[in-house]
This record gives sequence, structure tokens and C-alpha cells, in this order.
Amino acid sequence: TYTEAFSTLAKRIPALGPLFDRIGGDQVRNMGTIGGNIANGSPIGDTPPPLIALGAQLTLRRGNTRRTIPLEDFFIGYGKQDRQPGEFVEAVHVPVPAKGTKFAVYKITKRRDEDITSALGAFLLTLASDGMVTDIRIAYGGMAATPKRAFGVEKALLGNPWTEATVEQAMAEYARDFTPLTDMRASAEYRALAARNLLLRFFAETSGTKAPIQISRYEAA
Ligand SMILES: Cc1cc2nc3c(=O)[nH]c(=O)nc-3n(C[C@H](O)[C@H](O)[C@H](O)COP(=O)(O)OP(=O)(O)OC[C@H]3O[C@@H](n4cnc5c(N)ncnc54)[C@H](O)[C@@H]3O)c2cc1C
Repeated sequence: TYTEAFSTLAKRIPALGPLFDRIGGDQVRNMGTIGGNIANGSPIGDTPPPLIALGAQLTLRRGNTRRTIPLEDFFIGYGKQDRQPGEFVEAVHVPVPAKGTKFAVYKITKRRDEDITSALGAFLLTLASDGMVTDIRIAYGGMAATPKRAFGVEKALLGNPWTEATVEQAMAEYARDFTPLTDMRASAEYRALAARNLLLRFFAETSGTKAPIQISRYEAA
């Protein structure tokens, strides 16, 4: 279940803690599973984007036959996953980010608690000692028919200095990576703008710039 998995995962990857605290309520977290959140293939499931950014692998099993694939390859299209008849999701392998890398995930909803995601962005960044981006993985939910990486944005950042100028340039690539929809949770324009701004927020939080404040349930109480 979420509750069982989160206590283990958030201990090793602390940035996941605040996200897990915002998936459903206690009842959902005690019943729902990460396997189900992945297997149902929803484009707004909260666990696939951060797990994709982290480079998670998925093990699918039928009888004694197993195969392991990158999690991102599991999501083929809307309602279509790489799962054969009789196969089930047996395991998710989540690499702990290497020391010195920066990882963050941001969930955008209308309400703080018990709300379904409008857009969710996850970022895993590796910087060289001179501040150049040597690796970056960015994945979103709510921006396409599946959980999806922002390959164009990643390419625009890779090999460049981690500066606001680089980030602003890369933000232009969102329009090529994603064509979000309008629905009851958010308009396409809102999603496009919020998604771009999450990259800016990640930059602020990782660059010593004055970062936005994140208020947890405990601080708010
Ligand atoms: C009130 C409420 C609030 C919610 N809030 C959130 C939220 O904030 N964020 C979020 O991401 N989700 C949210 N959800 C959705 C919920 O988290 C997912 O539906 C849940 O994770 C699915 O997991 P499950 O174990 O309950 O799967 P089920 O609902 O039992 O199954 C979903 C589908 O996947 C299949 N399936 C399940 N496990 C496997 C497996 N291991 N291998 C293959 N197929 C499998 C089932 O056969 C079924 O078709 C919410 C749901 C409710 C009811």
C-alpha cells in the first residue's frame, strides 16, 4: 500500500514525503497501492512522474515469467499500457538518487488535501562542480495522455550552466513537449503556465535564490 511503501521510500528519498502526504486521504493511502497507481495507467496518477524522474524500473510477471522495463516505457498511450494478458505489476525498483543530485516533485491541485492533480512535475538534476548540467530528468503528470518526460526541456538544459538564463530559454520548449487539455481541474493555458513555472521554482530551490515557501500540514496547523 501507499502507507507501507511511503515510510520506506520517504526515509531514503525525503522529497517524496510531502507528496505522499497529499495522495488521497488516510483511507486511500491505507488501501491503494503504488502497483495499482501505475497499472491503471492514469495520466494523473501521482506516483509515476517522480518514479520516472528517478529512473525506476518495473517488473511485470505472468506465472514464472518476468520482464523488467523502464517505467516510462510502460505508458504507451491513453488507457494503453505495455501489459500482456495475464501479466501483473510485481515490483517497482526505485534507485535512490546519487549523493549531490537534486530531486524535487511538485503537485498542483485546487485544494491542498484530497484533490486530484491538475499538473505534477518531478525533477532530478545532476550538476558538475562548475555548475554545468550533466544530467536532468523531468517528468510530468496531467500534461499529456500519459505520464511523460519533457525531453525537449531536458535537452535545452543539458550541457548548459544551471542559471536563470538557461532555465528561461528551456521554458520555451514546454510548448513543444506538451499540449495539455482543458478539463474541470484546470485550463490548458493554466497547465502550460504552471508546468513551465515549476521548472523556475525548482531552479529557485536549488540555486540559493529566494525559494518559494512550502507549507506542510504540520506548519499550517
Ligand atoms: C477518494 C480518492 C482519492 C484519490 N486521490 C488520489 C491522489 O491524490 N493521487 C493519485 O495518484 N491517485 C488518487 N486516487 C486514485 C488511487 O490512488 C488509485 O486508484 C490507486 O492507487 C489504485 O491502486 P489500487 O491498489 O487501489 O488499485 P485498484 O483500484 O484495485 O486497481 C486499479 C486497476 O489496476 C489494476 N491493478 C491493480 N494492481 C495491479 C497490479 N499490481 N498489476 C496489474 N494490475 C493491477 C486493477 O485490476 C484495476 O484495473 C484516489 C482515489 C480515491 C478513491
